[in-house]
Amino acid sequence: MQKADKRIDEYLKQLDRGDTEDEAWQETVEALNKKIEKLREMREEYKETEQKLDKSGEKQLSVTDPDARLMKTEQGTHVCYNVQMAVDSKHKMIVAMELTNEGNDLNQLSSIAGEAKEELGVEEIEVVTDMGYYDCDQVKECDDNGITVYMDKPAVKVIDGVYSKERFKYNVEKDVYLCPAGEDLRYRTTDKQKSMKMYKTDSCESCGLKTHCTSGEGARVIKRHIHEGVMEEMATRVKGSREKLKLRAGLVEHPWGTMKRTLDQGYFLLRGTEKVEVEMRLNGLIYNLKRALSIVGVPKLIEALA
Ligand code: SF4
Repeated sequence: MQKADKRIDEYLKQLDRGDTEDEAWQETVEALNKKIEKLREMREEYKETEQKLDKSGEKQLSVTDPDARLMKTEQGTHVCYNVQMAVDSKHKMIVAMELTNEGNDLNQLSSIAGEAKEELGVEEIEVVTDMGYYDCDQVKECDDNGITVYMDKPAVKVIDGVYSKERFKYNVEKDVYLCPAGEDLRYRTTDKQKSMKMYKTDSCESCGLKTHCTSGEGARVIKRHIHEGVMEEMATRVKGSREKLKLRAGLVEHPWGTMKRTLDQGYFLLRGTEKVEVEMRLNGLIYNLKRALSIVGVPKLIEALA
């Protein structure tokens, strides 16, 4: 809208400068007026889009597919859907698929892992996934639902020259963090969202290590998610099972590679959640049929389907 306004202003200024007696100028006036009219129409459309966004509370709207969203991918930022997939470790067959338009995977783990567990009809399941799913609430939900997650912890940004949280050792029994100076940081309060607990000590003011510990004026505060214990258990589990983490790439990347490269389905052809979901499931079905043919062969597959 700002660009359109700027252009309209420029054209109006040009019109003001013109010589009204000149015949050729009359043609220019006509052309400029047409351009101004077109820009005003365009501006009106943008205004309507802006009102739609205000009403929906959304931050973006794709005019090609209103259900899709702008997402960062390995190939750059594109208007996309986010496909979730769970693959079994024995046959590399797709067990569950879900379609969302969320820009990242942070809230997806519990749902797709739960669907896989239900589909397999088991009481307990182990799930290996990448760091894009690292979320305390999601891992806790999985834990409560008989789903044991194996996932590496993403690197945490640390301020240069300041002790990282790893330097503070948590004591479960006492619910305190032991700091590098040997002081106990005790629980003080929980944040407004009731998800982060804050720990600190009164000894920071007189501590000789303070300049290495915090860049701020006050005491060093250590935050602990209410479900961080589940993440610590997962870290211990992962440490002793690196071979499981290594399996991930060969499992879930198998269907991705096959669908995108062999079946040439790197992009959705349809628009709208409902249709795209059907397209996604058809791709999954074709992949699973291909897998079944490779594993058991045609006669056995026909026999099983009969
Ligand atoms: S500044 Fe506070 S938290 Fe940091 S080492 Fe010293 S006493 Fe411990």
